[in-house]
Amino acid sequence: MAVGYDAISVPPRSGTLGDNVREALSGLGDASRLRRFPRGVLEKLGKLGVLRRRWAGPHPGDVLLGVSLAEEVAASAPTGIAVGVSLHTESVLSMLHRFGTGSDYLADLRERALDGTAIGALAASEPQGGSDLSAVRTLATPVAGGWRISGSKKYVSLGAVGDFVIVLCRLADGSGAPTRRLATVVVPLARAEVVREHDKLGTHALDTVAVEFHDVLIPAEAMLGRPGLGLANVSYGLSFERLAVGAQVLGAVGHALGLAVEHSERREQFGGPLRSHQHLEFRLADVLVELEVLRAAVHHMAGRLMAEPLDRALVARIAAVKVHAARLAERLVSECLQVFGGAGYLTRETPLGQMWQDVRLARIGGGTDEMMLALVAGELRGAAEAYRSAVRITA
Ligand SMILES: Cc1cc2nc3c(=O)[nH]c(=O)nc-3n(C[C@H](O)[C@H](O)[C@H](O)COP(=O)(O)OP(=O)(O)OC[C@H]3O[C@@H](n4cnc5c(N)ncnc54)[C@H](O)[C@@H]3O)c2cc1C
Repeated sequence: MAVGYDAISVPPRSGTLGDNVREALSGLGDASRLRRFPRGVLEKLGKLGVLRRRWAGPHPGDVLLGVSLAEEVAASAPTGIAVGVSLHTESVLSMLHRFGTGSDYLADLRERALDGTAIGALAASEPQGGSDLSAVRTLATPVAGGWRISGSKKYVSLGAVGDFVIVLCRLADGSGAPTRRLATVVVPLARAEVVREHDKLGTHALDTVAVEFHDVLIPAEAMLGRPGLGLANVSYGLSFERLAVGAQVLGAVGHALGLAVEHSERREQFGGPLRSHQHLEFRLADVLVELEVLRAAVHHMAGRLMAEPLDRALVARIAAVKVHAARLAERLVSECLQVFGGAGYLTRETPLGQMWQDVRLARIGGGTDEMMLALVAGELRGAAEAYRSAVRITA
């Protein structure tokens, strides 16, 4: 049995948010062993008013609180729990807030999601369409009073424990033939069939399942945002999730660093604590350097998201922070593991190996590194004027 995070005493953090997170994470049981996201975390965060504070004020609410919440949870709980929390508080709630204004049905759902009594998931990826979401085949066919949903989704995190799911689907025309237009609709998870629970490399405290929709009828009011703008809607929600991934990395790596520094002071080799060997201490200092730069980037982007419209340029900049954070996470947790020597590799002795496997998801979930780089590449601009005056290449 691997060492669980609950075996570690997490240093108390000050402030209301830290207190709220500690309370929400208390008494959860071993979610990693149960392979289920503990709903109680979001229920308690809802009851404590944290979700409402996050989304108070004009859209998009207090994004800085959103990233602080993601960091706090990731610092104190397995990454799977942090990913599940951000999925609901950032991806799902951002979309419900932005696009869910058109009907009482969605307004009611949003209120329950803010209370933490209705937990939402996002189903975009399919067996055929993962990176290329424009290829999704799940069909929404117009019927009297609403839509009929049929198709399959390969990865739905929170799909085993959640209450509803935002589904990216293709619109059919009146005759049932697929069109080029995509849309996002809300479907109760009780109406989806879970066909597989995925065994994963890490993030065991988060359930991720494959689901199928067999002619599920939903009311017209369950259409989230304008029909035809499904891809833009999902992209909107994913930007919030990607920023939260950056914050999760701050929390998870910060936690790993704390353990590694402590170990470097307790373990003695060559007549002194590991930390007294400057090369090792400087490597730990380097981890902190990289975290501080990432922190500045995450907080800067949170501020911009609160102040500016989420246009292509901002989407690309958030993607840049996400890809950087994801790659850092893998490397920096590995650095912390290294300080433990052999014990870092032993899953009964330290949690570092599990943490390394957990943070690896950041390079895939919410869009892969490559898709983030594609967004960033779209913003590369040559400096024609400067080039003309600075470059003299002879034939
Ligand atoms: C644990 C877990 C939880 C998840 N949870 C959810 C969820 O809740 N909701 C959801 O919708 N999805 C979820 N996903 C799915 C995730 O978003 C996708 O796995 C991811 O977007 C990649 O899609 P894919 O797996 O189909 O890979 P593919 O699209 O098949 O890509 C395979 C590889 O090729 C690369 N690639 C693809 N196209 C290009 C290109 N044009 N140029 C260069 N490289 C390219 C990709 O970057 C990747 O490295 C989850 C995945 C995992 C593993």
